Amino acid sequence: MAYIYVIEDEENIRELIKIALEGFGHEVSAFEAAEPALESMKEKKPDLAVFDWMLPGISGVEAIKAIRGMDGLSKMPMLLLTAKDKELDKVVGLDSGADDYMTKPFGVLELAARVRSLLRRGGKDIGAEGDTVVCGKLTLNKKTREVWFDGQKAELTFKEYELLQYLLENRDRVVSRDELLNHIWGYSYDGETRTLDIHIRTLRQKLGEKGQDYIKTSRGVGYRLVGDEQA
Ligand code: CA
Repeated sequence: MAYIYVIEDEENIRELIKIALEGFGHEVSAFEAAEPALESMKEKKPDLAVFDWMLPGISGVEAIKAIRGMDGLSKMPMLLLTAKDKELDKVVGLDSGADDYMTKPFGVLELAARVRSLLRRGGKDIGAEGDTVVCGKLTLNKKTREVWFDGQKAELTFKEYELLQYLLENRDRVVSRDELLNHIWGYSYDGETRTLDIHIRTLRQKLGEKGQDYIKTSRGVGYRLVGDEQA
């Protein structure tokens, strides 16, 4: 787990990045502009920063250059986001001192993977990594028991979460009703599986229109969790 600054003026993207990184167990402080982030860094140093290039006031590139000259922060990993995708821009971006570069639009899973790799390169211990399970657009954190689908947080009940985690850990296999009842409820319902079906129904609803397709019904047998490729 790392402490990460996200500096992005577009609210939707800022929130999406924040939610995604928190889903991977990181702590995130988000800023709309570079100036307050630079100010805050003097008080509370992040382990990594994600800067958008085009910001009101100081640009992401200018901010990165400034940070490279700051005491105790000159080696901090920094990722630059930009809508520009020309080769020349990439060179300029990397020359700015950014450690990595991503062009918008990007997927949050790719962003999280780049962040992980930068943290690893920087020798940062990311123990929370093992707590996060990803399947397609579905992300689950076993430590915080939080679940996201496509960047949207799903508020699950205790049993719904237990069900989802069990299905996720047994993904691509049909898990029988009996097995789910025994594992989640701890005893056999003697053929009464209505409780299970109701929980599956509310779980599907909470995962949303696309997320519900991740949980397949195997008629007369049980349920199976699949990724994007089969959903
Ligand atoms: Ca921007």
